[in-house]
This record gives sequence, structure tokens and C-alpha cells, in this order.
Amino acid sequence: MILLSRADWAADTELPRRGYRIGPLRRTEVFVHHTVIVDADATRNEWETLAEVKFRMRRLQRIRPDLGSDVPYNMVAFCMSDGDLALCEGRGLGRTGAHKRHHNRSALGIAFHGNFESEAAPTNIDINLADLATWLRNLRNVRGFVNLGNSRPGNKQVWGHRDAKSARTVCPGKKLYDRLALIRFIDEEDETAMDKSTWKVVQRALQNQAPPLYAGKVVDGKPGKNTNTAVRAFEKRMNLQPRGVAGTFGDPAAAIWPATRELLFVSAVRGRHVT
Ligand SMILES: [Zn+2]
Repeated sequence: MILLSRADWAADTELPRRGYRIGPLRRTEVFVHHTVIVDADATRNEWETLAEVKFRMRRLQRIRPDLGSDVPYNMVAFCMSDGDLALCEGRGLGRTGAHKRHHNRSALGIAFHGNFESEAAPTNIDINLADLATWLRNLRNVRGFVNLGNSRPGNKQVWGHRDAKSARTVCPGKKLYDRLALIRFIDEEDETAMDKSTWKVVQRALQNQAPPLYAGKVVDGKPGKNTNTAVRAFEKRMNLQPRGVAGTFGDPAAAIWPATRELLFVSAVRGRHVT
């Protein structure tokens, strides 16, 4: 993958830098768009040279003066004809975008340059999307965007523009939208949501710990305050990282770090044998 900063594509520094500074912790979602601008040759969603990419970025800087003469997206992706992905800094990772109302703070807006509704998908689109996922994974796991993707549709880890409430658009175009599930960047352990019966087993296992640590009485199969307290106490006792109940209390999609769960079950069984 090729990364191009604003300096790399020679952004016009006479134009004002738009958006407000925003920290990585506040980014909870990824929004995917397409720009609807196509290449002039036969492969309309594939870009041949980096010179072309840079030229297109400078055009994007001026394309929406109503939004303030800057690239409205945080990043812009170009599927290159050789199969590479060129990812260009738009407003950048540290600034708010102007790509979707009510989501310009919480979301990183990433636009693919092309029209994925009316034109054919690039030959290597699946590889391009996997490359983007690798880059996003690094943001989440290494570069401090620890909440990125916590807000996501049920079946995917990124939003398409048209998934947004009240969006009247086909953006990012059917040929891209249908493949968005390929962008997977959240580690499986964060994804392992538990159902009600598993939560019941977890709560019983917490109650079976000796010496006791469970703060609550009711085994209801729903993650709550007492379960959260008990899981944290268990993690502390076992010298584990605090990676307990994730998400909102009572949220059935909450999960416990699998290593915690494993150790919890094992030690609960051992405890029962002793007593
Ligand atoms: Zn869009």
C-alpha cells in the first residue's frame, strides 16, 4: 500500500486547512464513500499512475467550495491498475471531516475515488479492501484509535454511507457496498459477543470462585454492574489485564476477553472439586 500525505500530493497550502482537531479516542466508526469521479480510460475505477492520483487529490481539494475548499473526507483511496492501493491524506486522521452530517467527529470518512454504482469494480478490489483493513487494524491496535469500529452495523465492521439513518444515497455504490464485509480489522477476541446462556455460565463460574468475589445474587444471564465488578475482581486476582465486560451494561453484545473466560471456567470447576 502507498500512503501519500498532503505534502506528497502537493496540497495547495494557500487554501485553508478545514476541520477541527480531534483525538483518536473519539473515533468510533469508519464510513466508506465513493467520490463518483471516474477515470477517463476504459478501466474507469482503476488509476494508472501516482501523478494522476496527486492531480486528482488537488482537484478534490477545490471540488466542494460550499464545504470549505478542502478534501471533505479524512482519507481518499485509489485502486491502482497494478493492484496496489494508494491511500491519500484528505483532512487527515486528526481532524473532523465534512462527509456525513452527525458523523464527522465520530467517523473516519474514507472515500474510494471512482463510481462503484455505475462502473465495474477494479480487478483487485478484494485485495485493496484487505489492504485497507490491515491499515485500519494498525490504527486500532497500535496508533491509539482503540475505539475505532465499536460503532458498526451488525454484519460488518465499517458503515457504508447509505447505512446511515436517513441517508438518501446509493453511496458508496453497489459494487463497493456489497464487499464492505471484507474490511475486517477488529481482532476476534473483541468481537466474541456472548449470548444469554453463556452469560449465565459466566455468572455461575464467578459465584463458584473461592474465596468469593461475586458482588451480586441474581444469575440472570445479562451483563450488569455486579457481573462487571466480579469479572474485574477475578482479572485482578489472576493478574490479567482488565479486559472484562465490554460495552454498555445490559448490552447482550457485551463480551469477556476469551482468555479471562477460559481461566474463569477452569478455576470454577477446580473450585467445585475442592469443596
Ligand atoms: Zn458518501
